[in-house]
Amino acid sequence: MTATERLYYSDSHLIEFDARVIDVTDRVSGWTAVVLNRTAFYPTGGGQPSDTGTLNGARVVECIDDGEQGVLHVVQGAAPERGTIVHGRVDWPRRLDHMQQHTGQHILSQAFVTLFNAPTRSFRVLDTSCEIDIELQNPTAQIIERAVELANNVIWEDRAIVIRNVTSEEAAELPLRKEPAREGELRLIEIEGFDLTPCGGTHAYRTGEVGMIAVRSWERAKGLTRIEFVAGTRALADYRKANRSAREVAALFSTGRDDAPQLAAQMVEESKELHRQVRALEEIAAGVEAEKLLAAASQGVVTHVFEGRDAESLKKLAHALIEHPGTIALLGSRDGDTARLVFARSADAHGDMNALMREACTLLDGRGGGKPDLAQGGGKHVEKLHDALTHALTLLNAAP
Ligand SMILES: [Zn+2]
Repeated sequence: MTATERLYYSDSHLIEFDARVIDVTDRVSGWTAVVLNRTAFYPTGGGQPSDTGTLNGARVVECIDDGEQGVLHVVQGAAPERGTIVHGRVDWPRRLDHMQQHTGQHILSQAFVTLFNAPTRSFRVLDTSCEIDIELQNPTAQIIERAVELANNVIWEDRAIVIRNVTSEEAAELPLRKEPAREGELRLIEIEGFDLTPCGGTHAYRTGEVGMIAVRSWERAKGLTRIEFVAGTRALADYRKANRSAREVAALFSTGRDDAPQLAAQMVEESKELHRQVRALEEIAAGVEAEKLLAAASQGVVTHVFEGRDAESLKKLAHALIEHPGTIALLGSRDGDTARLVFARSADAHGDMNALMREACTLLDGRGGGKPDLAQGGGKHVEKLHDALTHALTLLNAAP
């Protein structure tokens, strides 16, 4: 026997009620837990978050099922006193939202059982969507959309949803979608002619109240298929968001929403082709640049610090330089917050680029290395790039 009579069991649409305060306890940081002799507030449980609302002037921020101790209403503000009668009010938009998600889950879960014999293993209401984990081996868009279609047909048929209280013996004779989690008298939720399952949550009066169900995404997770869905007002909110995104993308292509994917795909292809062309031009440019740098270098040693060149571009230039015999390239770049270095030498030149790179990188507070003929590295002390190159050059000249 529990201390609190649960009014939400018999009427999920009851949002105002009067009750007697039977216990008040102070909790952490000024929050107080109030126990009533009866409540319409649904406490967190079964994958469904708790209701919120008010008790007289105090704000109910959460409700917790404390078993035989009753339902704890966690309040902020002036808590009512023990023995007084309070007026409770449940936030209806939140309750409606939760009922739509929760009832929607019953319908969607049964749709997967009906069509694919794929039972639901768990369910969660998240901030803006919901998740079910089901035993579906090979999910495809087509399979999932068939279940979504059946679920929406059941919603639009506006079937009655009935609460049946039965004994466990009676329940054993009934075709329940899932095994009851407890013994004794059971509360069954029946969606007329479609689904029968034990549940202690709040449900719509009729399936039509769920509005609609849409699946946002799915993935394989821990041997199950995790399906993210939205029902009711969440489906509308999600549609608005998706529509806004699609229209914003379409506006970038000066086209309508439905034509945007094709134009976007076309642009990606064009972009890939442009990248190929740019890479080819870079090869040519690196060759020309190498010749100019070599013309200005003394004894085949090129040292230079560039602005905003990435590692790839530096390497390309180094390769173009060492195609010329007797060449050593000590190159640096200020690439945003990063100092980059590439050292290279042609096959007939002398010097250990790997050793030079390690020495130079210590000045940059970074790391680097490679082979005797090609090494790369970098660090965060961009202002020391010149020092690092000078140091490397000095070591190179000092080598026997
Ligand atoms: Zn339920």
